[in-house]
Amino acid sequence: MTPDLSIIVPLYNEEDNVKLMYEAIRDAVAPIEAACEIVFVDDGSRDDTFGRAIALPRRQGNVHLRVVKLRKNAGQTNAMVCGIDQARGRVLLTMDGDLQNDPRDIPLFLEKIDEGYDLVVGWRFERQDHWSRVIPSKVANRLIGKVTGVPIKDNGCSLKAYRAEVIKAIPLYAEMHRFIPAMCSLGGAKIAEIKVRHHARRFGSSKYGFSRIYKVFLDLIAIGTLLSFNRRPAFWLGAVGAFAGAVALLALVAAVVYGQQPPGIVLGGVAVLLGSLAIFLLALGLLNHLVYSARIRRFDPFRRLATRRLTPALAEPAP
Ligand code: UDP
Ligand code: MG
Repeated sequence: MTPDLSIIVPLYNEEDNVKLMYEAIRDAVAPIEAACEIVFVDDGSRDDTFGRAIALPRRQGNVHLRVVKLRKNAGQTNAMVCGIDQARGRVLLTMDGDLQNDPRDIPLFLEKIDEGYDLVVGWRFERQDHWSRVIPSKVANRLIGKVTGVPIKDNGCSLKAYRAEVIKAIPLYAEMHRFIPAMCSLGGAKIAEIKVRHHARRFGSSKYGFSRIYKVFLDLIAIGTLLSFNRRPAFWLGAVGAFAGAVALLALVAAVVYGQQPPGIVLGGVAVLLGSLAIFLLALGLLNHLVYSARIRRFDPFRRLATRRLTPALAEPAP
């Protein structure tokens, strides 16, 4: 039977959490009248996570368990994507596998999806982590909101629900699972944010250290570029190139005025350098256009997603 709901849980060295996770999800979804599948994705754990996962009952109540094992550890985003690819539900939900997210919140997410949202994002409003993680995360969320134009309070919360066709169309890589709302918004997704419970980790340890701040920062630059690139591919490079070109021209005129005197020689050098930079940047901007137009023609998930949302609305009978 095709499940209505797929719950995707990435697991990396979570042997002491697997069984508790399974039981908590099973109990949380028991009251909802829907066929559910749990997709446990073992992200190349070196402990007994996989062994304990496959020892769990395949079926209990309305829950069907599937376990995916990745050959090597490739990170949370990759594990989520593998689970998303495998999932067969109409609605998909992701959550951490360390019991920090609470499965009892699942019904709230389904209610929001039923209200017509494409993506529902959890907000750990009483987050139970050390301040050294909570504060950088708050700053990052502000920054992400500014750069992406999608003001979500808690992008890092893994507890999220999606319409399957929306999340399956989004290309996720690197550590992009923290930018899912921004990526979905590119396709015109309707997004809701709800408060969720959060617990301190009881078993196992966090897989992230301070290097996460650096990674989030780099991903933010990447996604900022992606968003502006999507609207105006050559804009930034072209603008900087044009500015460099204008300064080069001024330097050239000044160099001609000074002639053979020392300032003239320096200004000539500046003109050549900035002129080359301008040509380089303008060419890069044009190259962006070419890449973009090729991508649009072949595969633009965001446009496809936006179009899909439009079709049923157009098909609806006029009132
Ligand atoms: N995780 C994973 N692969 C990794 C790192 C983490 O599948 O390379 C899983 C991990 O097992 C957990 C979730 O992603 O289920 C969140 O990780 P963690 O609890 O370490 O993050 P934190 O809560 O500290 O932000
Ligand atoms: Mg955790």
